[in-house]
Amino acid sequence: MHSDTRAIHAARHFPHGAVVPPVNFTSTYEMDIDTVSAPYAYQRGSNPTRDCVETVIAALEDARHGFAFATGMAATHAVFSLLSAGDRVLLPTNVYGGTFRYVEKMFPRLGLEGVFVDNLDELTDDDLSENTRMIFVETPGNPTLRIADIAHLAGLAHRHNALLVVDNTFMTGLLQRPLEHGADLVVQSATKYLGGHSDLLAGAVTTNSDALAEQIALSQKVHGGVLDPFTSFRLVQAIKTLPLRLERQQENARALIDHLEAHKGISRVLFAGSYSEHERQVHASQASGIGAVFSFELAEGYHLQAFLHALELPAFAVSLGGVESLMCLPASMSHDGMTQEARDRAGITDALVRFSAGIENIADLTADFDQALTSARTI
Ligand SMILES: *Cc1c(COP(=O)(O)O)cnc(C)c1O
Repeated sequence: MHSDTRAIHAARHFPHGAVVPPVNFTSTYEMDIDTVSAPYAYQRGSNPTRDCVETVIAALEDARHGFAFATGMAATHAVFSLLSAGDRVLLPTNVYGGTFRYVEKMFPRLGLEGVFVDNLDELTDDDLSENTRMIFVETPGNPTLRIADIAHLAGLAHRHNALLVVDNTFMTGLLQRPLEHGADLVVQSATKYLGGHSDLLAGAVTTNSDALAEQIALSQKVHGGVLDPFTSFRLVQAIKTLPLRLERQQENARALIDHLEAHKGISRVLFAGSYSEHERQVHASQASGIGAVFSFELAEGYHLQAFLHALELPAFAVSLGGVESLMCLPASMSHDGMTQEARDRAGITDALVRFSAGIENIADLTADFDQALTSARTI
Protein backbone atom coordinates (compact mmCIF):
# COMPACT_ATOMS: atom_id res chain seq x y z
CA MET A 1 0.00 0.00 0.00
CA HIS A 2 1.10 3.56 -0.64
CA SER A 3 1.40 5.90 2.30
CA ASP A 4 -1.65 7.96 1.33
CA THR A 5 -3.73 4.77 1.47
CA ARG A 6 -2.07 3.71 4.71
CA ALA A 7 -2.89 7.11 6.25
CA ILE A 8 -6.54 6.10 5.96
CA HIS A 9 -6.50 2.33 6.35
CA ALA A 10 -3.59 1.48 8.68
CA ALA A 11 -5.90 1.12 11.66
CA ARG A 12 -9.33 -0.39 11.00
CA HIS A 13 -11.77 -3.17 11.96
CA PHE A 14 -13.29 -1.68 15.08
CA PRO A 15 -16.06 -3.13 17.24
CA HIS A 16 -19.57 -3.09 15.71
CA GLY A 17 -18.14 -2.41 12.26
CA ALA A 18 -17.40 1.22 13.13
CA VAL A 19 -15.25 2.88 10.45
CA VAL A 20 -13.61 5.28 12.88
CA PRO A 21 -11.96 4.14 16.11
CA PRO A 22 -13.86 4.25 19.40
CA VAL A 23 -12.50 6.57 22.07
CA ASN A 24 -11.72 4.52 25.16
CA PHE A 25 -11.77 7.00 28.00
CA THR A 26 -11.42 4.46 30.79
CA SER A 27 -8.35 4.97 32.97
CA THR A 28 -8.34 1.44 34.32
CA TYR A 29 -9.40 -2.02 33.16
CA GLU A 30 -10.87 -5.03 34.92
CA MET A 31 -8.45 -7.89 35.25
CA ASP A 32 -8.83 -11.61 35.50
CA ILE A 33 -8.71 -12.33 39.25
CA ASP A 34 -6.97 -15.67 38.96
CA THR A 35 -4.22 -14.65 36.55
CA VAL A 36 -4.20 -10.92 37.46
CA SER A 37 -3.82 -10.08 33.80
CA ALA A 38 -5.69 -8.28 31.02
CA PRO A 39 -4.86 -6.98 27.54
CA TYR A 40 -4.98 -3.47 28.97
CA ALA A 41 -4.42 -2.53 32.60
CA TYR A 42 -4.08 1.24 32.97
CA GLN A 43 -4.35 4.07 30.46
CA ARG A 44 -0.81 5.41 30.88
CA GLY A 45 0.74 2.07 29.91
CA SER A 46 -1.40 1.59 26.83
CA ASN A 47 -4.97 1.94 25.65
CA PRO A 48 -6.83 0.97 22.48
CA THR A 49 -7.25 4.49 21.08
CA ARG A 50 -3.58 5.36 21.53
CA ASP A 51 -2.65 1.97 20.07
CA CYS A 52 -4.65 2.97 17.04
CA VAL A 53 -2.83 6.27 16.44
CA GLU A 54 0.51 4.61 17.17
CA THR A 55 -0.23 2.05 14.46
CA VAL A 56 -0.99 4.85 12.00
CA ILE A 57 2.13 6.84 12.98
CA ALA A 58 4.32 3.77 12.39
CA ALA A 59 2.53 2.87 9.14
CA LEU A 60 3.04 6.32 7.63
CA GLU A 61 6.76 5.64 7.41
CA ASP A 62 6.72 1.87 7.38
CA ALA A 63 8.36 1.76 10.82
CA ARG A 64 8.17 -1.26 13.14
CA HIS A 65 7.21 0.81 16.19
CA GLY A 66 5.32 4.05 16.72
CA PHE A 67 4.68 5.98 19.94
CA ALA A 68 2.35 8.86 20.65
CA PHE A 69 3.17 11.54 23.19
CA ALA A 70 1.32 14.50 24.64
CA THR A 71 3.59 16.97 22.80
CA GLY A 72 6.57 16.99 20.48
CA MET A 73 8.75 18.00 23.41
CA ALA A 74 7.54 14.99 25.42
CA ALA A 75 8.65 12.84 22.46
CA THR A 76 12.04 14.56 22.42
CA HIS A 77 12.25 14.08 26.19
CA ALA A 78 11.65 10.33 25.79
CA VAL A 79 14.51 10.17 23.28
CA PHE A 80 16.90 12.19 25.47
CA SER A 81 16.02 9.91 28.39
CA LEU A 82 17.91 7.13 26.56
CA LEU A 83 21.07 8.96 27.65
CA SER A 84 23.06 8.58 30.86
CA ALA A 85 25.07 11.10 32.87
CA GLY A 86 28.39 11.74 31.17
CA ASP A 87 27.05 11.27 27.64
CA ARG A 88 27.56 13.86 24.93
CA VAL A 89 25.04 14.83 22.24
CA LEU A 90 25.87 16.68 19.01
CA LEU A 91 23.19 18.97 17.57
CA PRO A 92 23.07 21.51 14.77
CA THR A 93 22.93 25.20 15.73
CA ASN A 94 19.70 25.60 13.78
CA VAL A 95 17.51 23.37 15.84
CA TYR A 96 13.98 23.90 17.18
CA GLY A 97 14.06 26.55 19.93
CA GLY A 98 12.45 24.21 22.46
CA THR A 99 15.08 21.55 21.84
CA PHE A 100 17.77 24.19 22.31
CA ARG A 101 16.13 25.20 25.59
CA TYR A 102 16.08 21.56 26.76
CA VAL A 103 19.80 21.20 26.08
CA GLU A 104 20.70 24.55 27.66
CA LYS A 105 18.51 24.29 30.76
CA MET A 106 18.21 20.57 31.50
CA PHE A 107 21.37 18.89 30.22
CA PRO A 108 23.74 20.41 32.81
CA ARG A 109 21.68 19.20 35.78
CA LEU A 110 21.42 15.73 34.22
CA GLY A 111 25.16 15.55 33.69
CA LEU A 112 24.68 15.53 29.91
CA GLU A 113 26.74 17.54 27.51
CA GLY A 114 25.17 19.14 24.44
CA VAL A 115 27.52 20.42 21.76
CA PHE A 116 26.14 22.65 19.01
CA VAL A 117 27.77 22.30 15.62
CA ASP A 118 27.36 24.86 12.82
CA ASN A 119 27.58 22.42 9.96
CA LEU A 120 26.92 18.78 10.84
CA ASP A 121 27.92 17.63 7.36
CA GLU A 122 31.48 18.72 8.05
CA LEU A 123 31.71 16.42 11.07
CA THR A 124 34.40 13.75 10.82
CA ASP A 125 35.21 10.74 12.94
CA ASP A 126 37.67 12.90 14.91
CA ASP A 127 34.81 15.08 16.14
CA LEU A 128 33.08 12.20 17.90
CA SER A 129 34.58 11.77 21.34
CA GLU A 130 34.51 8.56 23.35
CA ASN A 131 31.38 9.72 25.21
CA THR A 132 29.38 10.91 22.15
CA ARG A 133 26.21 8.82 22.39
CA MET A 134 23.82 10.69 20.12
CA ILE A 135 23.58 12.96 17.10
CA PHE A 136 20.25 14.80 17.12
CA VAL A 137 19.47 16.53 13.86
CA GLU A 138 16.67 18.41 12.13
CA THR A 139 16.66 18.38 8.36
CA PRO A 140 15.47 20.74 6.97
CA GLY A 141 16.61 22.75 10.00
CA ASN A 142 14.40 25.27 11.69
CA PRO A 143 14.06 28.11 10.59
CA THR A 144 16.91 28.45 8.07
CA LEU A 145 16.04 25.19 6.27
CA ARG A 146 19.62 23.94 6.16
CA ILE A 147 19.99 20.32 5.09
CA ALA A 148 21.94 17.56 6.83
CA ASP A 149 22.95 14.31 5.15
CA ILE A 150 21.11 11.60 7.11
CA ALA A 151 23.03 8.62 5.70
CA HIS A 152 26.38 10.33 6.32
CA LEU A 153 25.48 11.13 9.92
CA ALA A 154 24.09 7.62 10.50
CA GLY A 155 27.38 6.11 9.33
CA LEU A 156 29.35 8.45 11.54
CA ALA A 157 27.17 7.80 14.59
CA HIS A 158 27.20 4.04 14.16
CA ARG A 159 30.99 3.84 13.79
CA HIS A 160 31.14 5.36 17.26
CA ASN A 161 28.38 3.38 18.88
CA ALA A 162 26.14 6.43 18.97
CA LEU A 163 22.49 6.89 17.93
CA LEU A 164 21.22 9.12 15.15
CA VAL A 165 17.92 10.84 15.93
CA VAL A 166 16.10 12.91 13.29
CA ASP A 167 13.39 15.45 14.10
CA ASN A 168 11.22 14.97 11.01
CA THR A 169 8.50 17.50 11.88
CA PHE A 170 8.96 19.63 8.73
CA MET A 171 8.78 16.68 6.30
CA THR A 172 6.70 13.94 7.93
CA GLY A 173 7.06 10.33 6.79
CA LEU A 174 5.29 11.27 3.56
CA LEU A 175 8.23 13.32 2.26
CA GLN A 176 11.19 11.86 4.13
CA ARG A 177 11.85 8.57 5.90
CA PRO A 178 15.00 8.93 7.99
CA LEU A 179 14.85 5.33 9.28
CA GLU A 180 15.41 4.12 5.71
CA HIS A 181 18.59 6.21 5.53
CA GLY A 182 20.00 4.78 8.74
CA ALA A 183 18.51 6.91 11.52
CA ASP A 184 17.79 4.98 14.72
CA LEU A 185 14.88 7.10 15.93
CA VAL A 186 12.58 9.70 14.43
CA VAL A 187 10.76 12.29 16.52
CA GLN A 188 8.01 14.57 15.27
CA SER A 189 5.87 17.29 16.65
CA ALA A 190 2.49 15.92 15.53
CA THR A 191 1.13 19.31 16.59
CA LYS A 192 2.27 20.55 13.18
CA TYR A 193 1.54 18.63 9.94
CA LEU A 194 0.11 15.40 11.35
CA GLY A 195 -2.51 17.30 13.36
CA GLY A 196 -2.62 19.97 10.68
CA HIS A 197 -5.44 22.18 11.98
CA SER A 198 -3.68 24.13 14.73
CA ASP A 199 -6.02 22.59 17.29
CA LEU A 200 -4.08 19.89 19.11
CA LEU A 201 -0.71 19.11 20.69
CA ALA A 202 0.96 15.76 20.10
CA GLY A 203 4.33 14.13 19.58
CA ALA A 204 5.52 11.00 17.83
CA VAL A 205 8.52 8.66 18.01
CA THR A 206 9.23 5.90 15.50
CA THR A 207 11.95 3.27 15.32
CA ASN A 208 12.73 -0.07 13.71
CA SER A 209 14.73 -1.25 16.74
CA ASP A 210 12.93 -3.51 19.20
CA ALA A 211 15.44 -2.65 21.94
CA LEU A 212 14.97 1.11 21.48
CA ALA A 213 11.20 0.65 21.28
CA GLU A 214 11.27 -1.03 24.68
CA GLN A 215 13.11 1.97 26.13
CA ILE A 216 10.68 4.47 24.57
CA ALA A 217 7.73 2.47 25.96
CA LEU A 218 9.44 2.56 29.34
CA SER A 219 9.66 6.35 29.12
CA GLN A 220 5.93 6.49 28.37
CA LYS A 221 5.28 4.53 31.56
CA VAL A 222 7.85 6.29 33.74
CA HIS A 223 7.54 9.91 32.57
CA GLY A 224 3.88 9.62 31.66
CA GLY A 225 3.94 12.15 28.82
CA VAL A 226 1.47 10.11 26.77
CA LEU A 227 -1.21 11.21 24.34
CA ASP A 228 -4.73 11.05 25.81
CA PRO A 229 -7.47 8.96 24.13
CA PHE A 230 -9.49 11.88 22.76
CA THR A 231 -6.50 13.58 21.14
CA SER A 232 -5.36 10.16 19.87
CA PHE A 233 -8.71 9.84 18.11
CA ARG A 234 -8.53 13.33 16.65
CA LEU A 235 -5.00 12.68 15.41
CA VAL A 236 -6.08 9.46 13.68
CA GLN A 237 -8.79 11.43 11.88
CA ALA A 238 -6.46 14.32 11.02
CA ILE A 239 -3.78 12.06 9.52
CA LYS A 240 -6.29 10.72 6.98
CA THR A 241 -6.13 14.05 5.11
CA LEU A 242 -2.41 14.68 5.67
CA PRO A 243 -1.41 13.57 2.14
CA LEU A 244 -3.93 15.95 0.53
CA ARG A 245 -3.13 18.84 2.83
CA LEU A 246 0.61 18.51 2.49
CA GLU A 247 0.41 18.28 -1.30
CA ARG A 248 -1.52 21.54 -1.47
CA GLN A 249 0.64 23.23 1.17
CA GLN A 250 3.78 22.28 -0.71
CA GLU A 251 2.35 23.51 -4.04
CA ASN A 252 1.45 26.83 -2.42
CA ALA A 253 4.90 27.14 -0.82
CA ARG A 254 6.63 26.44 -4.14
CA ALA A 255 4.51 29.02 -5.97
CA LEU A 256 5.07 31.66 -3.29
CA ILE A 257 8.82 31.00 -3.23
CA ASP A 258 9.00 31.51 -7.01
CA HIS A 259 6.89 34.64 -6.73
CA LEU A 260 8.93 36.14 -3.89
CA GLU A 261 12.29 35.30 -5.44
CA ALA A 262 11.28 37.38 -8.46
CA HIS A 263 10.01 40.30 -6.34
CA LYS A 264 12.36 43.22 -5.75
CA GLY A 265 10.96 43.68 -2.26
CA ILE A 266 12.51 40.39 -1.09
CA SER A 267 16.26 40.08 -0.54
CA ARG A 268 16.48 36.34 0.04
CA VAL A 269 14.30 33.26 0.36
CA LEU A 270 15.44 30.20 2.29
CA PHE A 271 13.90 26.81 1.64
CA ALA A 272 14.97 23.17 1.73
CA GLY A 273 17.99 22.85 -0.58
CA SER A 274 18.34 26.57 -1.30
CA TYR A 275 21.58 27.03 0.64
CA SER A 276 23.90 25.33 -1.84
CA GLU A 277 23.97 22.91 -4.74
CA HIS A 278 25.38 20.30 -2.34
CA GLU A 279 22.44 20.68 0.06
CA ARG A 280 19.99 20.62 -2.84
CA GLN A 281 21.41 17.28 -3.95
CA VAL A 282 21.48 15.79 -0.46
CA HIS A 283 17.88 16.83 0.13
CA ALA A 284 16.78 15.43 -3.24
CA SER A 285 18.46 12.11 -2.37
CA GLN A 286 16.67 11.71 0.96
CA ALA A 287 13.34 13.54 0.57
CA SER A 288 10.66 13.74 -2.09
CA GLY A 289 9.77 17.43 -1.76
CA ILE A 290 10.73 20.76 -0.21
CA GLY A 291 7.86 20.75 2.28
CA ALA A 292 5.81 23.86 2.92
CA VAL A 293 7.91 26.01 5.25
CA PHE A 294 10.25 28.71 3.99
CA SER A 295 11.85 31.84 5.38
CA PHE A 296 12.61 35.19 3.81
CA GLU A 297 13.90 38.69 4.42
CA LEU A 298 12.66 41.95 2.97
CA ALA A 299 14.94 44.00 0.76
CA GLU A 300 16.23 47.39 1.84
CA GLY A 301 13.60 50.04 1.41
CA TYR A 302 10.79 47.81 2.69
CA HIS A 303 9.58 48.18 6.24
CA LEU A 304 9.13 44.88 8.10
CA GLN A 305 6.54 46.03 10.66
CA ALA A 306 4.47 47.70 7.95
CA PHE A 307 4.64 44.53 5.85
CA LEU A 308 3.54 42.27 8.73
CA HIS A 309 0.66 44.61 9.57
CA ALA A 310 -0.45 44.80 5.96
CA LEU A 311 -0.59 41.04 5.33
CA GLU A 312 -4.18 39.98 5.80
CA LEU A 313 -4.30 36.20 5.35
CA PRO A 314 -1.41 34.66 7.31
CA ALA A 315 -1.85 34.65 11.06
CA PHE A 316 1.11 36.11 12.95
CA ALA A 317 1.74 33.15 15.24
CA VAL A 318 4.30 30.51 16.14
CA SER A 319 3.79 26.92 15.00
CA LEU A 320 3.38 25.62 11.46
CA GLY A 321 1.76 22.91 9.40
CA GLY A 322 -1.84 24.09 9.80
CA VAL A 323 -4.37 24.49 7.00
CA GLU A 324 -4.12 28.25 7.55
CA SER A 325 -0.92 30.03 6.56
CA LEU A 326 1.14 31.14 9.54
CA MET A 327 4.11 33.46 9.78
CA CYS A 328 6.43 34.32 12.61
CA LEU A 329 9.66 36.08 13.49
CA PRO A 330 11.76 33.16 14.78
CA ALA A 331 14.30 35.39 16.56
CA SER A 332 11.69 36.78 18.96
CA MET A 333 9.12 33.97 18.85
CA SER A 334 9.89 30.28 18.14
CA HIS A 335 13.61 30.70 18.83
CA ASP A 336 13.58 33.11 21.75
CA GLY A 337 14.82 30.22 23.90
CA MET A 338 18.13 30.52 22.04
CA THR A 339 20.86 32.88 23.12
CA GLN A 340 21.64 35.82 20.81
CA GLU A 341 25.04 34.28 20.13
CA ALA A 342 23.46 30.96 19.10
CA ARG A 343 20.99 32.74 16.83
CA ASP A 344 23.82 34.68 15.19
CA ARG A 345 25.71 31.47 14.54
CA ALA A 346 22.60 29.79 13.11
CA GLY A 347 21.90 32.77 10.84
CA ILE A 348 18.57 33.59 12.50
CA THR A 349 18.48 37.37 12.03
CA ASP A 350 15.89 39.61 13.69
CA ALA A 351 14.45 40.34 10.23
CA LEU A 352 13.98 36.72 9.19
CA VAL A 353 10.32 35.83 8.64
CA ARG A 354 9.31 32.16 8.69
CA PHE A 355 6.29 31.24 6.63
CA SER A 356 4.21 28.07 6.82
CA ALA A 357 2.01 27.73 3.75
CA GLY A 358 -1.61 26.76 4.31
CA ILE A 359 -4.11 25.37 1.83
CA GLU A 360 -5.66 28.71 0.78
CA ASN A 361 -6.11 29.55 -2.90
CA ILE A 362 -2.68 30.52 -4.20
CA ALA A 363 -3.99 33.54 -6.11
CA ASP A 364 -5.28 35.02 -2.86
CA LEU A 365 -2.00 34.37 -1.06
CA THR A 366 0.05 35.89 -3.87
CA ALA A 367 -2.20 38.94 -4.08
CA ASP A 368 -1.93 39.40 -0.32
CA PHE A 369 1.89 39.33 -0.44
CA ASP A 370 1.89 41.79 -3.33
CA GLN A 371 -0.34 44.34 -1.62
CA ALA A 372 1.60 44.01 1.65
CA LEU A 373 4.93 44.53 -0.11
CA THR A 374 3.55 47.55 -1.94
CA SER A 375 2.36 49.15 1.26
CA ALA A 376 5.64 48.33 3.05
CA ARG A 377 7.69 50.29 0.51
CA THR A 378 9.41 53.23 2.10
CA ILE A 379 11.16 54.61 -0.98
C1 LIG B 1 7.00 22.43 17.38
C2 LIG B 1 8.24 21.63 17.22
C3 LIG B 1 8.69 20.79 18.25
C4 LIG B 1 7.99 20.69 19.59
O1 LIG B 1 6.71 20.19 19.46
P1 LIG B 1 5.51 20.53 20.50
O2 LIG B 1 4.41 19.70 19.99
O3 LIG B 1 5.26 22.00 20.39
O4 LIG B 1 5.98 20.15 21.85
C5 LIG B 1 9.82 20.04 18.01
N1 LIG B 1 10.49 20.10 16.85
C6 LIG B 1 10.09 20.92 15.84
C7 LIG B 1 10.87 20.95 14.58
C8 LIG B 1 8.97 21.71 16.00
O5 LIG B 1 8.59 22.52 15.01
